[in-house]
Parts: sequence; C-alpha cells; structure tokens
Amino acid sequence: MTDRSAPLRVGVVGAGIVGLAVAREVSRRFPGAEVTVFDKEDRLAAHQTGHNSGVVHAGLYYQPGSLKAQLCGRGVPLLREFCAEHGIPFRELGKLVVALDRSELPALAEIERRARGNGVPDLVRLDAAGMREIEPHVAGVAALHSPHTAVVDYPRVCAALAAEVEAAGGSVLLSSPVTALRQETDGVRLVAAGRTHRFDEVIACAGLSSDAVAAMLGAPDDLRIIPFRGEYFRLRPERAALVRGLVYPVPDPRYPFLGVHLTRGVDDQVHVGPNAVLALSREGYRRRDVSLRDLREIAAWPGSWRLAAAHWRSGVAEMAGSASRRVYASHVRRYLPQATVADLTPAPAGVRAQAVDRQGTLLDDFALLRRGRVMVVRNAPSPAATSSLAIAEHLVDAVFPAS
Ligand SMILES: Cc1cc2nc3c(=O)[nH]c(=O)nc-3n(C[C@H](O)[C@H](O)[C@H](O)COP(=O)(O)OP(=O)(O)OC[C@H]3O[C@@H](n4cnc5c(N)ncnc54)[C@H](O)[C@@H]3O)c2cc1C
Repeated sequence: MTDRSAPLRVGVVGAGIVGLAVAREVSRRFPGAEVTVFDKEDRLAAHQTGHNSGVVHAGLYYQPGSLKAQLCGRGVPLLREFCAEHGIPFRELGKLVVALDRSELPALAEIERRARGNGVPDLVRLDAAGMREIEPHVAGVAALHSPHTAVVDYPRVCAALAAEVEAAGGSVLLSSPVTALRQETDGVRLVAAGRTHRFDEVIACAGLSSDAVAAMLGAPDDLRIIPFRGEYFRLRPERAALVRGLVYPVPDPRYPFLGVHLTRGVDDQVHVGPNAVLALSREGYRRRDVSLRDLREIAAWPGSWRLAAAHWRSGVAEMAGSASRRVYASHVRRYLPQATVADLTPAPAGVRAQAVDRQGTLLDDFALLRRGRVMVVRNAPSPAATSSLAIAEHLVDAVFPAS
C-alpha cells in the first residue's frame, strides 16, 4: 500500500515539451509532490521539440471531435496565456493554405469544413486577389486564411516550464537515460543513469523512443516508431520579405504530414520545409546518419514493408527532393514563383516520431498506453507542441482521475 502521509512521487521520462508540460501540471495540481523529470540528453528540448516549425496550429486540419482537434483547441489559449505570463513572444502572423489550381479546391473545401467544425477563429476563404493582399508573392487560385495561427520558440517555452517545475520543488535530471522500468506492488522502480528511483506513478513522454520505453514494460508489440526526417532550408535574409507569415500547401490526405511550407519564425527568418523522408536512424538529423540497429528494427517490422509497398512512388519523389536542392526549390517555386535555388540555404533538420502499426498504418491521433502505474505516450505527432499544455491536463486527468 502507498503511504498516504508521504508526498506523492511522480517520475516523468522525457524533457521535451510534452514531458515538461506534464511535470508542471502535476506540480500545480499536487503542491508538495516530488516530481522528477529524466532526459537522456544534456539539454531540454533536444529532439522533436527543438527541431520543428515553431507553429502554433489553429486546428484547421483535424477531424472535428477527435482528440487531436479537442486538445489543439484547448492547447492554443493555454499556450498563449503561458507565453504572456512568461514574456515569451507569441506572434500571430497568420497562415494561408493555398490551392495551386482548381484540382485542389475540393480538398481545400474539406479543410474549410473541418476548420469551421473545430471553431478556428476568424477563418476566411479567399480568391486569388484576396490571397495576394495577404501574401503578394504567392501563386495559387484560392486560399484559406487563418489570421491567428502563430509562431513561438518552443525551446524557450520548455525552459519556462522546467523553471516552474523546479520552483515548485521538482527536479529536471539531464544526461539521465532511463534504462529500466518495473512495476512493484506499491509503485514503480525506475533506473536512470545507473541509479534506482521509486515513484508512485510514472508518465513517459519519450518521443522517438516511446516504443522502446513501452517495451521495457512488456507492452504489446503492436506499434513501432518509424523516424521520418524533415529537411529544412532558409530563405536568404535579403529574400525573406517574399513571405509575410505562413504559407502552406493543401496537404495530401493520405499522409499525416502537412507538406513543405514557408514559415516566418519569431526571429523573422523564413524557414522552408520540412519534407518527410525515412530516416536511417532514429535520431538521424543528417542524411549520412545511419544506425544499423535502428535499420534492423525498421526492416524487421512488418508495417514498414506494407508502408513502403503502399507509398513507394511518393517516397522516391521525396527522397529525390531530399537529395537535391534544385528539386526542393522547384517545389517551393510552385508557391513562390520568385524563389530560386540560390535563395535557399540549408537549415537543421528535424525527425518526426511516427507510430506505425503492423499493417503499415501511420497513426494519426495521440496514442496512450496504461500499464499498472505507468502511462506511456506512444504517439504524439504534430500538433503536440501546440497542444502540449492541454495534453498535460488530459494525461494528468487520466492518471489521477479524482484530482
Ligand atoms: C520536423 C517537425 C516539424 C514539426 N512542426 C510542428 C509545429 O510547427 N507545431 C507543432 O505543434 N508541432 C510540430 N511538430 C511536432 C512536435 O514537435 C512534436 O509533436 C512534439 O515536440 C512532441 O514532444 P515530445 O515531448 O513528445 O517529444 P520530444 O520533443 O521528442 O521529447 C522526447 C524526449 O524524450 C527523451 N527520451 C527518450 N528516451 C528516453 C529515455 N530512455 N530516457 C530519458 N529520456 C528519454 C528524448 O531525449 C527527448 O528529449 C513537428 C515535429 C517535427 C519533427
């Protein structure tokens, strides 16, 4: 039995934005709780959270009523308020989703239907002339404009979350890889960096390693994380004026990725990307990063082959874009005809943790797994950074139903 007079002890695996938001939520709900966050890296936000587009999504794409849609809708105002409290810039630069030609209009209409179902504020449908009033250099026949889509510096948000956890008496232990998790009669034993810790509850938000953490608990072997690298370029600073806010394509509904987009960041640099190519290592940020162990795991997973069989054509096209700046630039020019190859300079890539089942289906929604006193986030795809504070509420409600 747990000693009720002792403080609640909660361990969190992962100091990305989801883990830190969860740790902060536990500290707020249970003053006096002992909250410890572990990360294997020597800094916060080392993986997906520190390598993304920095967009605060307004909730345009998600099926109304889905968990993704609900958590995004709640997450945006929570994040806006958090940033205001901590003096973190939250810039509502606005976003266009652009239909290049008439063939994309039905898909644009479907996004509009979803966005209205999700209550995206002040959404407007624009014709070509209206679109060019917002983004004068962008090509296309129609667009949706979401004026409140914003950009933020997610690592900065993480630093503020960690500071709140520590101010409430919690700890954030970096360079502390969690290597074992075991259920015991009165709690959970966690081994990190060779030291054993005991907790009443553990919540794991391990991103690219979430399947490895689930395996530590003997969870069903029904999902694998397949890493998809997304390469970015930047527009040269003297060409950044070509884009005022955020410009997105109409996404291909077969994939959970949004397509190569142009994004003005909080720092006023314009990022171009990301594409989505299979990474040859879980943390493969460069094309030359290859992990034989990760490759063996990917090859041994039946879902990888089913995924490859279904999507090899677009996969080859993306790989070509990945290998050649010229191919990448030609894609960008469809939206921004004035962009040239010389305008693009390489920028650091990101790697998405995408859960894939045995049938080769890319999981689109958040996926959680509860094993005894451990909750594992198995899939937290975009817009999980946007939704992080709402995901944290949701997870803490699930772990502590009476709180
Ligand atoms: C290219 C790209 C673009 C994106 N763009 C956006 C966007 O614009 N807007 C948006 O809302 N979302 C975006 N996303 C999605 C968003 O970044 C992620 O959904 C979100 O960051 C997930 O956060 P996380 O904390 O779950 O994972 P992560 O940030 O990956 O954190 C997981 C942490 O767990 C740690 N860890 C793993 N295993 C262990 C272990 N055994 N022991 C200790 N620590 C461990 C890792 O070191 C890591 O720090 C994008 C993602 C990518 C990759």
